[in-house]
Amino acid sequence: MRKPVIAGNWKMFKTVGEANSFWEAVSGATVDTEKVEAVICAPYLQLPSLVQSASGSAFHIGAQNMHEEQEGAFTGEISGAMLKDLGVTHVIIGHSERRQYFNETDDSVNAKTKAALEQGLTPIVCVGESLEQREAGDTETIVSNQVAAAFEGLTEEQVEKTIVAYEPIWAIGTGKTATADDANQVCQAIRETLLDLHGEEAANATRILYGGSVKPANIDELLTKEDIDGALVGGASLEAESYLQLVEAAQ
Ligand code: PEP
Repeated sequence: MRKPVIAGNWKMFKTVGEANSFWEAVSGATVDTEKVEAVICAPYLQLPSLVQSASGSAFHIGAQNMHEEQEGAFTGEISGAMLKDLGVTHVIIGHSERRQYFNETDDSVNAKTKAALEQGLTPIVCVGESLEQREAGDTETIVSNQVAAAFEGLTEEQVEKTIVAYEPIWAIGTGKTATADDANQVCQAIRETLLDLHGEEAANATRILYGGSVKPANIDELLTKEDIDGALVGGASLEAESYLQLVEAAQ
């Protein structure tokens, strides 16, 4: 049984004060940690107070990026070692916005994934096709290649610890959601890629999330699909009420 994950991605939203208000609104919620892994991926500056507040609670705090080196002359960067030291447990790697605006490549995604795993962090590796690629019928090839590259050189145990987020670029922040069947078909192709490259046990254990305009109104149908193990959520994770509704739907 794969435990579903609901991971919020706050992107570049919320001040420390706003993050604290969000925390006050969610902290009293009853979350069954046997049934759902609830994660909030916040901007770096909000991580110290969130980690402290969430300590011992049902919620995990994640970052949205990290550098692959442990330390060094990389001005403005944050390493996985620093995140681990703070008490962060998850980290989003290779979000399409980072691939698009910050030149992240399959190679850097692979290096960051390995570095995160070496630190004991859970990477949430993002893959997904553009609208042009979908219209050209290339979705499964593009996504499978991204997964193969991101997971290159990982042990079976490391594969199982890694979470994949399938996020079609055209569905992120646009209000357009892939149909649950289409999303499941791509998640199934991802699992087949993992099966071919890393074996049955790893493929069956790895959580694959869907992301792209997920909200309380569409989560239930997505979660009925066999190969969808939860969601990576941007906009709807910014409000405590809708974030909690998503967590509730998954448990
Ligand atoms: C995301 O930020 O990964 C995302 C899927 O955003 P949204 O839910 O707003 O589409």
